[in-house]
Amino acid sequence: MTFDPAVLKQITLIGTGFAVAFLAALWLSLIFWAFRDIRTRTRDNFMRVLAVVVVALLFLPGILIYMILRPAKTLEEEYQHSLEEEALLQSIEDSAICPGCSRRVDSEWLACPSCHTRLKKKCEHCGRTIDLPWNLCPWCETPVTGMRKEAPVVLQSHDPEQEPVQKTLLDDEEFYSHP
Ligand SMILES: [Zn+2]
Ligand SMILES: [Zn+2]
Repeated sequence: MTFDPAVLKQITLIGTGFAVAFLAALWLSLIFWAFRDIRTRTRDNFMRVLAVVVVALLFLPGILIYMILRPAKTLEEEYQHSLEEEALLQSIEDSAICPGCSRRVDSEWLACPSCHTRLKKKCEHCGRTIDLPWNLCPWCETPVTGMRKEAPVVLQSHDPEQEPVQKTLLDDEEFYSHP
């Protein structure tokens, strides 16, 4: 079976034409893809132009370079990430730290369950939790015994071994400066 050289030439020509058309389409779509992708990742116009130029000039190796150097997160992901971080920081700020053992404690707790440090006191009139240094209940305006540095009020404990621990914790400077 032999081919007519003219037909062979025709087939080669058509094949080459298809290959060139395919590569051109691939080249254009990669440029378009890079353009769309970089737009979601940076607001910097210089970076956007650079990404498109690199892909346009280097074609497939350009795409590889772009994939390596492009910002890892899209602007949307970056935004979500910052929201999550903010929420996390907020929850950390909301929960107080025990001055005695540095464990996280609830802002409403009266004492630390881990080290038994007195954290808050209760108003005798309205029963709401208030900060230890306050000598007036902010909820009902009833004067309460304030915990001052000169005369620290030691938490009454039935366990005699707890008493010295409470005293040292109440003398702690950090204990008083804590909100
Ligand atoms: Zn504690
Ligand atoms: Zn009160």
